[in-house]
Order: sequence, then C-alpha cells, then structure tokens
Amino acid sequence: MSKDLFLPHIRNIEGYIPGEQPRAGEYIKLNTNENPYPPSPNVIVAVRNACNSQLRRYPDPDAYSVVVRLSKLFGISENQIVVGNGSDELLNVALRCFAGTGQRVALPFPTYPYYQKLIELQNAVAQRFDLDENFSIPEDFPPTDANLSLLANPNSPTGTAIDSRSVGRMATQTQGVLLVDEAYVDFSDVGCIDLIEHHSNLLVLRTMSKSFSLAAMRIGFCFGHPDLISGLRKVIDHYNVNALSQIAASTALDEIDYMKSNVVRIRATRERLEKALKALGFYVWDSNANFVLARIESPPAAELHRILKERCILVRYFNEVRLENCLRISVGTDIENDRLIKELTDII
Ligand code: PMP
Repeated sequence: MSKDLFLPHIRNIEGYIPGEQPRAGEYIKLNTNENPYPPSPNVIVAVRNACNSQLRRYPDPDAYSVVVRLSKLFGISENQIVVGNGSDELLNVALRCFAGTGQRVALPFPTYPYYQKLIELQNAVAQRFDLDENFSIPEDFPPTDANLSLLANPNSPTGTAIDSRSVGRMATQTQGVLLVDEAYVDFSDVGCIDLIEHHSNLLVLRTMSKSFSLAAMRIGFCFGHPDLISGLRKVIDHYNVNALSQIAASTALDEIDYMKSNVVRIRATRERLEKALKALGFYVWDSNANFVLARIESPPAAELHRILKERCILVRYFNEVRLENCLRISVGTDIENDRLIKELTDII
C-alpha cells in the first residue's frame, strides 16, 4: 500500500547491494577492498580519548581540523576542500547538485555500481560508455554536453587507471562537471589533484576507507574550484562528519608515513597475488588498486565464489555483463593471500 506513495522513479529502482559484511563467523574478507592492516595505534588512542563528555556537543560542521591538514598536505586552499561522510556521501551530494530529472550523466561501463543507483535516484539519465575489451575508455568520453561525467580512476572493478594528462584532456573535452573518484589512487602511480588549479569544472574525490584503513569511520574528501566547493557545501548535511571521525582523520593525516608503509606492503602482496592467480590459469588485469580482477573460464566464477565462501573466504562476484567469469579479490595480508591461493588450488 505505502509503496504507491513513493515517487514513481523511487518505487521503480532497485536498492544498491553492497559487498557482504558477515554478522557472524570468522571470514577472510577479500570482498569490499578494506585494508587488511589496522589503523595506526595513535588513531585508536585519539578516538578512545575523545570518548568523553564532549560527545554531547555537535561536531565542527566544517571538519576544520581535517581541512587544515589536507590544505597543507596537497598545497591547496581551504576553500577548495570539503569533507564528507565517506566519499559515497560526496558522490550523493554531487549528483544532487549536477543531475536533475532527465539530465544526462555520463559514465564508463563497467564501473562502481553505486553511480548508477545515484543517477536513478535523481531521475536522471545514465549515458554509458562501454570500456573496450582491455577496459580502456572510449575517446568520446566524456561527452561535451553531459551535465556531469563520472570517472573512477583507478576504476573499480577493473583496477585500470589513466594518467593525469588524459584526465586533463577529459576535463577540457566536456563543458559539464567531470568528477574523478580517486578512492584507490594511493595504490597507484596516478592522481590528478593538481589539475583543479587549471580546470574549474573538475572535482576530485578521495577516501580514507582504503589506504588509511578507516572504512568504519566514513571519511571522504572532495577537491575542486572554490565555486564548485561552496555549491556542494550548500547541499551537504551540516553535521555530516561525526566528531570521532574528525579526530581519526586528523590524527591519521599527521601520520602519512604509516599509511604509505601499508600501501607498500599491499602493493607487494598484490604482485604476488597476480602471479599466483595467473599460474592457476586466471586472466588477471594489471591492477592499480588494492584488489585484482581475475577471469577464469572454468570452473565458473560463481561456483568458485560459493565454494570459497563455504571455506570462509569472501571475494566479490558481480554476475553482470562484461564481468562474466570474473572475481574481484581484495588484496589481504600475505597470510590471507596464501590461504586463498591454497584453497583455489585445491578447488581448481
Ligand atoms: N568510490 C569507489 C570507486 C569505491 O569503490 C568506493 C568503495 N566502495 C567508494 C567510492 C566509497 O568509498 P567510501 O567508503 O569513502 O564511501
């Protein structure tokens, strides 16, 4: 009954299904690209110390302690930065700002599936640009006239990436906003924050969920021209980043070397994982992220996914066109990696 009270475009969409977060049982979790290493001990102490009577107060609406550190770290002005409750919130806000009913939002395919859901929530129209068989982006992306174009770089679930010169060309090619989602950038050699000085239509997103091991704290950043950032600020929830998350973020940003040393370890494990999967007969795309996309003809990827789960290892299976026979596997610790390869060898 109440179903009919929903706006028609909301009634008709399917909810986004995130990767499984098991409520019980001990799993090796290689399905949602979390960092296998804990946040720095100082972050945990700082958050613990902040659990005090001050929790009765609202958090700083500007997350200023975080903004100051980002400004210093990236050499950009404070008015070019906004902090979000995860980069998912910032994506949400960007869609609300730039994609109205019937307007076109361009995006490569396949990419982060949440983009499609956000487009549908806005009753906007997705204009898909199919990646080629190597997952390269077609030259006509982004189109000149789309209001908004979305680009995950590195892309998920493919792990492929383009350099910042190509991103700059894309920003020039479109008259709309180009939003570059750099959730996985710390695991790559790319990155385009510098370009915001030259392209007033460019927004760059980052997150602390992956390289900083802070997925639970929900912290994302958006960088861009001050006019774009002040527009986003009008739409974003005013107390969007809670006080404990602000403490965690500012403490972690004071310890960039801790994050970088984990990234070095993850990149080394990624290389070992790619080699081991290839030796087992998988086709593996070169990864620029903390996961690898691997394809196998037989046994079917769905079967592998199911059997691995029975053996308490979670990986991601998409059951979608272009991703048939593929598994996306997050890079874990070396021990988790070895266990995965042992089980896969046994199954195959
Ligand atoms: N962008 C991409 C490409 C992602 O894969 C993810 C994680 N699922 C996000 C954004 C969202 O990250 P956050 O945890 O910051 O919301």
